[in-house]
Amino acid sequence: LFNFKIILGKNGVPVAENFQLEQSTIPDTVQDGQVRVRTLYLSVDPYMRCRMNEDTGSDYLLPWQLSEAADGGGIGVVEESKHNNFAKGDFVTSFTWPWQTVAVLDGSSLQKLVPQLVDGRLSFFLGAAGLTGLTALLGIKEKGHVSAGANQTMVVSGAAGACGSLAGQIGRLEGCSRVVGIAGTDEKCSILVSEMGFDAAINYKKGNVAEQLRELCPGGVDVYFDNVGGDISDAVINQMNRNSHIILCGQISQYNKDVPYPPPLPPEVEKIQKERNITRERFLVLNYMDKQEASVLQLCQWIREGKLKVRETVVEGLENIGAAFQSMMNGGNIGKQIVSVSS
Ligand code: NAP
Repeated sequence: LFNFKIILGKNGVPVAENFQLEQSTIPDTVQDGQVRVRTLYLSVDPYMRCRMNEDTGSDYLLPWQLSEAADGGGIGVVEESKHNNFAKGDFVTSFTWPWQTVAVLDGSSLQKLVPQLVDGRLSFFLGAAGLTGLTALLGIKEKGHVSAGANQTMVVSGAAGACGSLAGQIGRLEGCSRVVGIAGTDEKCSILVSEMGFDAAINYKKGNVAEQLRELCPGGVDVYFDNVGGDISDAVINQMNRNSHIILCGQISQYNKDVPYPPPLPPEVEKIQKERNITRERFLVLNYMDKQEASVLQLCQWIREGKLKVRETVVEGLENIGAAFQSMMNGGNIGKQIVSVSS
């Protein structure tokens, strides 16, 4: 098997050289309760940056250990099973899939997948029909206070990414009357409007975000799906209405720094937040797993009906997973960044 190991844990911008590909062997016997799987797809996600620090800044994230195989969301096919729930040929997933081409895993760590739910597009279970889709949907439902007919304007940062591109569409499906995205390239902005149904999108690397927001959200902002934090979020919060709501999904602009999560707002922005009674409660999708099954079914239905448009950026080969992670952190992806390990 080939596996991927972390060889450098440090603060700063992650680089492909933080990872090293190694060849090794796995046990040739599968014990009772275990299954041998071949990896099909792996996910690279922003939270993994925090796992590269000795102190992840979060109580629910364990640091990756130097010289051990990294892990994260993955999908594979069962090649041999000694667990009652799984048979050869089943497609399975786990949040703690090792970055290996093949692995022997405890059956208890796996969930079985139903490919028909996504018309056979299995990798969607790492994105729109997996944790990413759940984050967008449950973030909006639990923290967004969106109600149909209330004429709400939603702004989404990190809008062309995995969560953001879904969040804007779900905001619309749930009843927002205006949805504006903020993303890092003109191409991303144009896809958000032409493909994903956003009303407008702002390229934050060009021009003045605050000015463009004022023009595009003349009635102010009622719901802010925040994936990035930092200056972009400060500009949005400035234009939020009284009694409005921030969905505190992520703060990727701060992840290369050694700061606690969530990073505090600058005092002048916090003053606005408090004075206008803007909610900013921490949201963590893993706290809502009791809603996983029903929510995945909802997401899959929207996908099959064409109501939720899904984009992926797929990199081939386990040997390229470090580069794929680095690229995603730098905005190289549109939609969900996936690594295809075998077919
Ligand atoms: P993603 O958005 O697909 O990829 C990350 C994107 O972030 C990049 O494409 C890049 O796009 C943008 N970005 C990178 N550095 C930035 C910066 N300094 N300022 C502004 N944008 C920057 O990743 P994702 O998996 O969907 O995650 C999005 C956010 O959701 C992350 O903050 C993540 O931690 C969070 N999340 C939270 C939960 C939860 O339970 N709360 C679950 C999943 C994910 P641009 O080209 O636009 O810069």
